[in-house]
Amino acid sequence: MNSVIKVSQLTKQVETQEGPLKILKGIDLDVKPGESLAIVGPSGSGKSTLLGIIAALDTPSEGEVSIDGVNLAQLDEEQKAALRKRSTSFVFQSFMLVDTLTALENVMLPAELAGVQGVKQRAEQWLERVGLSHRLHHLPNQLSGGEQQRVALARAFISQPKVLFADEPTGNLDPANGDKVADLLFELNQDQQTTLILVTHDQKLAARCERQVRMVEGQLHEVSSAPINLVVGETG
Ligand code: ADP
Ligand code: MG
Repeated sequence: MNSVIKVSQLTKQVETQEGPLKILKGIDLDVKPGESLAIVGPSGSGKSTLLGIIAALDTPSEGEVSIDGVNLAQLDEEQKAALRKRSTSFVFQSFMLVDTLTALENVMLPAELAGVQGVKQRAEQWLERVGLSHRLHHLPNQLSGGEQQRVALARAFISQPKVLFADEPTGNLDPANGDKVADLLFELNQDQQTTLILVTHDQKLAARCERQVRMVEGQLHEVSSAPINLVVGETG
């Protein structure tokens, strides 16, 4: 099967007051359509930087990224923006809803920009899907954190992205709301065949992904898929 995301020999170096800083040191990664992948690892190891580059929001210093067979290096900014709109969505730890717009308007906004037909009806359907039919006209500050993140999920899925990027999607939620958001993420990953690439500190959430990779000081390592509680005590 073809890869929906292909990353090869990717590096990122930035200039700081203390001199050049190598954030990413030669990343290779292949993600198959429909796969769910968790990127775990300590704070400051480069996870968000990698996610931003794969999502075409940031550019690498060296190496290549392809989304759906398109090499990002060959696109100008306008073409990259069009690719992002067409094929990807992003969910953030801090929800990133527009404060002055209702739940419904927040979900409609990017879909309207992307020229989706019948936006209002589809936005209502998506809010129903995430269990928020009774919150259509509420502003973000009238919603709980879990509800806000579910609005963000509806907004992310309305454009039927090939790839959904999520950076600590449950990081600001209590366990119960985190579980609800995670359940929805995996339901939609399955139903919509959306490829899911998420960064998380939440071991439980990471373990629900088909594959885990660990970032350590700018390098990625595959994580064995065996559940930890089966490995413990198995070897003598
Ligand atoms: P993570 O998401 O794993 O916590 P990040 O990708 O946010 O890590 O950051 C990795 C490291 O690179 C951190 O030490 C961060 O401070 C640094 N960093 C990220 N972006 C920049 C930048 N534009 N300029 C300087 N340092 C940066
Ligand atoms: Mg981060």
